[in-house]
Amino acid sequence: MQKRILGKTGLQVSVIGFGGIPIRKLSMREAKNLLAEAVGAGINFFDTAQGYGDSEVKIGEGLKEKRKECILATKSPCRTAEEVASHVRKALARLKTDSIDLYQIHHVSKAPELERVLSPGGALEGLIRQKKEGNIKHIGITGHNTDLLYKALEQSEELETVQFPFNIIEDGKNERALLKIAKKLGVGTIIMKPLAGGVIPEPELCLRWILQQGVDVIIPGMILSTEIKMNSSLGDKLRPLSPQELSRLKAKVKPMEQDFCRRCLYCEPCAEGVPIYFIQELGDKVKISAVKDMCKEMYASLEKNAEDCTECGECEEKCPYELPIREMLKEKHRLLLES
Ligand code: SF4
Ligand code: SF4
Repeated sequence: MQKRILGKTGLQVSVIGFGGIPIRKLSMREAKNLLAEAVGAGINFFDTAQGYGDSEVKIGEGLKEKRKECILATKSPCRTAEEVASHVRKALARLKTDSIDLYQIHHVSKAPELERVLSPGGALEGLIRQKKEGNIKHIGITGHNTDLLYKALEQSEELETVQFPFNIIEDGKNERALLKIAKKLGVGTIIMKPLAGGVIPEPELCLRWILQQGVDVIIPGMILSTEIKMNSSLGDKLRPLSPQELSRLKAKVKPMEQDFCRRCLYCEPCAEGVPIYFIQELGDKVKISAVKDMCKEMYASLEKNAEDCTECGECEEKCPYELPIREMLKEKHRLLLES
């Protein structure tokens, strides 16, 4: 497996990392087998989060014998220094380790949140303290709002990595700008949603495309042995797309571009509390049979859903991609309820 240096962390990461969201659907035994297979295939970067169900627990249990070979990255929605200590303590216990390689401030999506995180008494201050105490080794930030992440990197040199969605559909000027500033500042780049949440056809071409964009590590979610095999083989020998393959991939994604929610979150908050981007994402993923039931369950558990939309239209005025959000929400609602 090819390795790259994760920016100023200096960590040598496999170009294919392990996205730890779907593992929560496996039994402990299945999860341990899958993790052993991933390590055997040369994957050494494992991404999880406090909010991914029991993913941290499974990764901790599954990798405890291989701890020295693995780089553990986790994250939590910590926003204040006060919260950080308990979040890190919990992650250390769940991951069965005495030091976490990378701890990230999870899903910073709005300007006031970023301000809170970076201000005195904010999460970053708490994480710097954790780093001094040896509980974590490096600090990063994650989110979907690439413009905001750009500002975060500009404002703090303590941030050593940035994790954001990037794929052949979500390839706009904000993603490119973020990649560029990260490179300039020596910040490691961790790419989530390399397959746009699994909705892009031609996964192999799609991953080969992202691996040639100068990123450090991509973290597709993996739950099947076949996924480990295919993804790790792409990282063993990097093969840039031929012009013909690129044309084929672009032709496949073109029809999707028009109505694809890029998760930038500019449309939120909705005055009625409708979680717009989350519904868009669930509505896309429900088309994938492996996660269909999970998406439906998650939708059913939402406090507010598309039916709470009063069709005021404010979100559409804020969407930079001019998406017909109201119509899209209705369609996603239909897909998420149908049997
Ligand atoms: S149109 Fe619906 S989803 Fe959009 S802001 Fe108005 S109420 Fe919220
Ligand atoms: S609906 Fe538009 S504004 Fe909202 S998250 Fe998606 S792309 Fe961004």
